[in-house]
Formats: sequence, structure tokens, C-alpha cells
Amino acid sequence: MSFCALNTTPVSAQGGDQILDGIGETGLIARYIFKGDANDWSRNNLHGTIKGADFKFEVDSLFGNVLSLTGGSEVFITVPGEAVTGEESLSISGWIYLRASKSGQMFFDFGKDSQSHFFAAPAGTREKEGYQAQIITKSGKYVAGSPALAINKWNHLAVVINVPSKTLSTYLNGVLVSEVKDTAVELEQLFDNASAENNKLYIGKSLASDNAFLNAKLYDFRIYRIPLTERQITRIYNIALRKEEPTVRRRVEPDRNLPVFPVTTPQLYNQFLTDVPDIQVETAVGELPRLPRNVKGVYSNNPKGPDVRVIWPAPVDNSQVLTPGTYTITGKVSGSAIQPKAIVTVSEAHVHTTPDRTLEAFNLDQVILNADPHNHDTKFIENRDKFMTGLANSNPDNFLYMFRDAFGQVQPEGAKPLGGWDSQQTKLRGHATGHYLTAIAQAYASSGYDASLQANFAAKMDYMVNTLYALSKMSGQPKTAGGEHVSDPNAVPPGPGKAGFDSDLNVGSIRTDYWNWGTGFISAYPPDQFIMLEKGATYGGSNAQIWAPYYTLHKILAGLMDIYEISGNEKALEIVKGMGSWVHARLSQVPKETLISMWNRYIAGEYGGMNDALARLYRLTSEPRYLEVAKLFDNTRVFYGDAEHSHGLAKNVDMFRSLHANMHIPQVIGALEIYRDSDAPEYYQIADNFWNMITNDYMYSIGGVAGARNPNNAECFTAQPATLYENGFAAGGQNETCATYNMLKLTSGLFLFDQRAEYMDYYERGLYNHILASVAEETPANTYHVSLRPGSVKQFGNANMSGFTCCNGTALESSTKLQNSIYFKSTDNSALYVNLYVPSTLNWTDRNVTVTQTTAYPKEDQTVLTINGKGRFDINVRVPHWATNGFFVKINGKVQKVEAVPGSYLTISRKWKNGDRLELRMPFKFYLEPVMDQQNIASLFYGPVLLAAQESEPRTEWRKVTLNADDISKSISGDADQLQFTIDGVEFKPFYETYGRHSVYLDVTLK
Ligand SMILES: [Zn+2]
Repeated sequence: MSFCALNTTPVSAQGGDQILDGIGETGLIARYIFKGDANDWSRNNLHGTIKGADFKFEVDSLFGNVLSLTGGSEVFITVPGEAVTGEESLSISGWIYLRASKSGQMFFDFGKDSQSHFFAAPAGTREKEGYQAQIITKSGKYVAGSPALAINKWNHLAVVINVPSKTLSTYLNGVLVSEVKDTAVELEQLFDNASAENNKLYIGKSLASDNAFLNAKLYDFRIYRIPLTERQITRIYNIALRKEEPTVRRRVEPDRNLPVFPVTTPQLYNQFLTDVPDIQVETAVGELPRLPRNVKGVYSNNPKGPDVRVIWPAPVDNSQVLTPGTYTITGKVSGSAIQPKAIVTVSEAHVHTTPDRTLEAFNLDQVILNADPHNHDTKFIENRDKFMTGLANSNPDNFLYMFRDAFGQVQPEGAKPLGGWDSQQTKLRGHATGHYLTAIAQAYASSGYDASLQANFAAKMDYMVNTLYALSKMSGQPKTAGGEHVSDPNAVPPGPGKAGFDSDLNVGSIRTDYWNWGTGFISAYPPDQFIMLEKGATYGGSNAQIWAPYYTLHKILAGLMDIYEISGNEKALEIVKGMGSWVHARLSQVPKETLISMWNRYIAGEYGGMNDALARLYRLTSEPRYLEVAKLFDNTRVFYGDAEHSHGLAKNVDMFRSLHANMHIPQVIGALEIYRDSDAPEYYQIADNFWNMITNDYMYSIGGVAGARNPNNAECFTAQPATLYENGFAAGGQNETCATYNMLKLTSGLFLFDQRAEYMDYYERGLYNHILASVAEETPANTYHVSLRPGSVKQFGNANMSGFTCCNGTALESSTKLQNSIYFKSTDNSALYVNLYVPSTLNWTDRNVTVTQTTAYPKEDQTVLTINGKGRFDINVRVPHWATNGFFVKINGKVQKVEAVPGSYLTISRKWKNGDRLELRMPFKFYLEPVMDQQNIASLFYGPVLLAAQESEPRTEWRKVTLNADDISKSISGDADQLQFTIDGVEFKPFYETYGRHSVYLDVTLK
């Protein structure tokens, strides 16, 4: 199983490891081992280049093969400038065997030029003796100095720029040797974040022209985006010398790099808590009870205090509920000694009734986003248009480049390979193309307001499909009539001249013998990665390792089906059927235990939503083998606990703690799709239980769910549920943006089955406060992780759509379908659901009704729905969970008597007439959303909007605010129409309008 931190096999020296020396790969930017080349062994493929000729790789008694620079002539290594763009902090670590004591030799020198740079000189500079690191900017110079290195021996150097802590530290052989405090430096002073090519990153050479070249051996040079701690650096040093066991056990202490509070710290309203009455819960044999996370409390000062967040024990199996009876569970409340009790009654097992899918989303072209009543573009329109423009200007040939490369085809003129995770050697290449297919389909459907844009996207769809169709038809077919070929997917041989399968994608050594690949095969690489996964290959950078072949394939198949469903292009569906059959042919031959092992292999077995895509293919084609193969993707351990289906998510057991978040969320979306197409209730239970656990026990206030310090991987769920403060807030970031995209998809999917308002409350939270907040101010650049630590700043990437991470790819999808969940309808067209309050026009063509929603929400707390057309139908409007100051309804100006419960849908049944106006008003209020296990740390909301404190500089401590205990709004002043507020002189504005430093979580004292 892919515990992000449980790695019981020794860490391979050959890269791609998720936890290298105890540090999650999300913290690692690049790693140059120098065993025979200057390639980057991290997943980012930021390969270095060795300049000059006076170097060699030589065998070293300590480290095996290392790089040797002789210092005699102009020889050094360059690293791509993008390695350092947009980072908050940096750590450099590496081994050096210095052979000369001459001053001016550089271990590394990174910067824009000799006026703005950062370097480490192991033997001193012209001006100053000794091993030193320096930061030089136009406004200052900082020198961390210590005695020079001993020559003719291996030394481990590490240099850390910790921007929030304002320190520059140097380490020698795992020990801190020098530290400068109060460095007033931000990395944007050293590097050009907009144009990576302006950053010069040299190993072994100075940015100034007059210094000496390095005379040394080099080994394992690493660049980290996190400020490494002394403990981490010591560990890197010890492990390399085999003084410490490289295995990382599961229960490592999380790094103590967040403020720690004494137990006596008052935690918001919990300080006034006097009692939490026992609760009664029922469950059936085999199923863990679903315990309410928030229960009624009794307060000393405030009888209307909020519900109390209780942290219940979270067993890893269902042994407590195997027989009927009663038992008691004791929970805890953070910041209080009270121990709430739940008395659980276990009854005989019963058959679940699971809901039918009674709602439908509208097609994207049926909903158009509008400007607000003041004719201002909303953030929805702004973000949509950034992506529409970028996509319209994109060159489809760039997105087809690696497909043509895989099939050995000539590139058309002007075609340029994408960078990022689609570059030549990246084993995930093709993933951005999948997102692109979805994006242009959605952009086509969403751009009905502009005929030329729509024509642009129509042409792109046709071109992409025609090209991919032609390639897919070549697979398994003879190159020339009567030639040799292998049409059976199970008979694919190794590449010509190769002894076995490999993932080599280099120019000149990539196999391109498509005639041997089996009928229907399509990908941006040869079939080897799929076959190697079956044979046990793990995730990593070597040619014997793979990335995530099925993850990439899911994006491609989903994109093609999106084009088919939106434009009716039958060739797009043909490609999917061909590849679906290829996958069926192979996986139906794979033993069950091999499948379990495959899907539990960290990242290698990450399959995105292959189960979702194949179940959907079954729905589109009615061919049963596609549903069959969809089920072969069941993640047995997470879904069912074990091969015997003892428990798992189907029985409400949390089996995904500490796992990679975005690896697993799409699998659950797939479970829901299989339920839709098969009615097997366990698949619904899996999705329903998962959603409940995720949003209650792992969610940050913006709606993101990933970001663990323990395990040390910013993309993982915390090691235990409901421990966000103890184990979350990873230094490398939190809230992987594509994970939230997938959470929204799962959430709206569940709502179509079960109209619980909490689903769309979550949707609103994630949409406004993460997805809308994830795009740069002027360009479609977008976030990967969104850090919510004190004084963080969002890092946006891929402004010109030329190099995609997973999140950059997913953003193409998010921002071309922002309107897709504003309205739903019942499948029988008897009811409309108004989920979100966004200015827009709905064309409900089945009823010949148009609904125009006019509002500046959330810059006002009301909206007007104008009905054009007529007929009897229900309008169900969402009464948000936070709307506790009332929810007021008028029809044609007349006040309606309604009973609107916050966190529910209000049904308005009526025979609607042409021109009817339905007015809704829901006064916003301020409220706090605390971290469950450290409740003085909380986010401030106003209605649906998360308000972020605007910070002027980096910080390590949480921003402290004092709020009135009876009514926090008494401590807040400002302009609700502009959503701009002030607390104690500090400015707050919506997180989605925040582009500078911010504090989303505050340290709140109630007085
Ligand atoms: Zn991502």
C-alpha cells in the first residue's frame, strides 16, 4: 500500500522516490546524482548540462560513480532557470570533494546576475576567507561564514534560505556552522519569476566572470523548495554514509516547524464549554457508526455557542461492531477536558437502500455566465476568459507532439514540445493533452457568446481527434501491406533490439514500432509502461521504472469522451473503444493479487479515474466488457479493507489516512460512476462514506484536503484523521489544487443522487475559496499547492500554457466549466435546483424556460431569478449553512412566508408565469472556522467568502487577532459591498482576490 511515509524497502539511490531521506518529494525541486550524466532524478526532469570538456565521471570509493571537475578550464554545470522560479524558500544540499584550496571556487552560484545572487564558496572568496554562503541583492548583502573546508576529503554542504524565518544558514557534514538572522530577502529579488531564462544557475562557476573554476568531485546535488531543518540535513548526511537506516517508519514525529501552543491556551468557544451531553448512534453489524463530528454543547457564558467539534477515535477495522449490542465511544474536545460519549447500538446487518440518480446537470452550453448588475465582470468571467484566450491561442500540434514522437511520425512545421511533465523524457507525457481535449470541448460548449471563439475550438477538436484517430489506427497494423505486426495486446513484444520492456523515451532510443503494439493502442509513449506495471515496476526516473501510465490514459480517454459527448464526434469515441478494449484484453488476464499490488503501488499504480472513464464508456456504448474492466480498477484495500472485503470504505472504515490524496479521490469518483451504471450499493457506500470522512476530518478552510507534515508529503492526507494541526500544514504546501477539483466533481456527483445541502455548501466553499482563488491576476497561470501557513504567498505557474504539472492541466478543465453546477434539474424536468448564486442565464430547453439570475453576490447578499416561459415546477434554492441570520423570499415583490433552515434546500412550488421575479436575500455574517485540533487557529468567513489577512512580509507566527466573544462582528469594520474589512488596522479581503502575502488562518483570542 502506498503510505506516503511507510516505506519499508530501502530508499533507492536512483530517484523518483516519494520519501527520500525522510523528506517528501513535493519538497524536492531537482536532484543531480552525477552518476554518468547531469540528469535530474526528481520527477521534474530539470536536467542539467555540463559545459566545457574538462570533466569526467570517475569511480569513487565512497559513492561509486561521481563527477570530477578539474578546475583547469571553463567547465561547470548549468541547471534550468525554472528550477527556482516562484519559490518561497530554498535549500541546497550536496557532496563535494575539494581538491584545491584556492579562493573564489563556487559550489554553486544562483541568481539573475552578479548584483542579485546567492552562492556558496567552500574555500572563501577574494574578500573573505572560509566556507561561506552569501546572499547579494541590490539592497543588502548577507554572509554566513565559517572556517574553510578540509581539502581532499568528502564534505557534505547544505545552505538554507528560510524566508519566513529570515535566516541564512550553512551546514557542514550535517551540523549547523553559521547562521545569519534578520535577512530581509525575498527570492524574487534574486530570481526572475516571470522569465525563467533570465535565471542563471551554475554549479562550479561564479556569476561574476573573474573567479576560479571548481577543482572538485561532486555527488548528489539537490535543490529543495522547503527550508530544511537541521534534523533533516543531518539525516541526509547520515543516510549517505549509511550511519542511519534509510527506511522511514510510519510514526515519525512531524517536524516541529509550526508554533506549538501550551494546553492552557484558550481555544475559542471551547474555553466556555461546561458540558457535552452523551449522544446515541445506531449502526448495523459490520459497519462503523457514522458519528456526528459536531454536537450540541452547554456553555457557561453563551447559551447559543456553536456546536462542539468532537474528535472521535478512528479505528482501522470494524472489529468493534461485529456482533449486535451496545458499546460506548469516548471522544475528546480540543482545548477542553470534557470527554463526550457516544452510545452506539449495533443492530443486525441490513440491506442498504441507496438512492437513485434523480437529478441531471445542464449541458455547459445551457448556462452562460453574465456580468454583475453594475456590468462588472465577475471573478468567474475573469478567470474563464484568461483560459479561453490562452486555449484559443494554443497550438494543437504542441499537444500532439509526444504522440507523434511515440509513433515515430514527422512533426509538422511549428510544432514545439511542451515542457514540464510532458517533456521528451518525462514518463507522464501526454497528460496535459488529455486535459486539453476536455478543455477545448468545454470551451467550445461554454463560448456560445462568441462565434469566432467557438469556431476556433471546433476546429481544434476536429484536428486533435483526427490526428489521434489516425495514430490509434496504426497500432497493431502492418507498417506496409503484408508486413509483420502484432494485433493482440497480450502479445506485445519488447522494442526492436531490446531484451525487455523499458520506459526509455529518449530521442534515438524510444521504441516506435507501433505495428507491434496491439490493436487500438493510443498514448504519448509506447505500451511498455503499462506492461511494466503488471510486472511490478515502481515509480521513478530510471528506464526500469515508470510514472503513472493509467493516470495519463485516464485524462486522454476522458478528454475524448468529453469531445464525443459535446460535439458528437464518433471518431473520438472509436479511439476510446479501441483503447478500452486494449486495456480490457490485458487486465482481464492479470491475476487478482497482481491487480491489488498494482493499484496500491505509490504513484506507479495511480490510475486517476480509469474506473470512472471505463464505466462511462460502458454507459455510452452498452458494451459489458467496459464495465467489467472498470471494476478491475477497484482499489480493494481502500474500498473493502482486504481481498475478503472485510471492511474498508464500504463499511465506513477510513483506510486512506496518510495516503496520496489526489491518487485516491478520482478512484472514489469512479466508484460512484460504477454505482450509477451497475446499481451495486457498495460502490455508493464507498463514495458516501469517503466524502463524509474527507470533508470532516481532512479539510482545510478553503476546501482543500491534502498537505501532511506527517507523513512528510504535501500531497498526502494526514497520518491520522482529525489531526490537521498536529500532522498537517506541510511546509512544502497544502491543498493540491487538482485534488480540490476532484472533490468538487465527487461532491456534485453525489448531490445528483442525494440532495443534501451540505454537498453544495462544500461545493461553494471549494469553488470560491480554492478554485477561483487558484488563478493569477492577469494570466491563466495557476497554483499547484496553496499554502495556508502564516504569511504565505500563492505560487502561480504555466502562464503561457507551455509546461504542465497535474494541477496546471486540471486548471484547463476547472476554468472552462465554472458554470456547470449553478443549476441542476430533476431528470423528469419537474424541478429546478439553484445551487449557487452566480450571475448567469439558464436555458432550460426541455421546458422552454429561461432563468436569468441577476446579482453581484458575494458582493451583495441577495439575488434575483427572473423566469421567462411558464409552467408548474419546483424551484429548490439552497439555504446555505452559514445563513443563520435569516433567508428571505419575495415573489414579484411580495414577501413569502417560508420556513428556511440553514443547510437545506427550500422548495418553492408554483405555476410560474412569464416574467416572474423570485428574490432571495440571505444576510451574510462573520464566523470562524477553527482547525479541529487547535481551535484558536481559525479562518474568518463572511457568508461564503473566506477573508484573508493581507500581509506585507513573510512571517513564522500566526497573525494574532482579538475578537469580541459575544459578537465577533463588533471587532470588524469595513465595506461589505467591496468585501474589504479591517481588524486592528490589518486589511482583510477575499482569498480569491488576494495575490500578495496573506494569512488565511489566524490565532484568535476571544474577549
Ligand atoms: Zn495536482
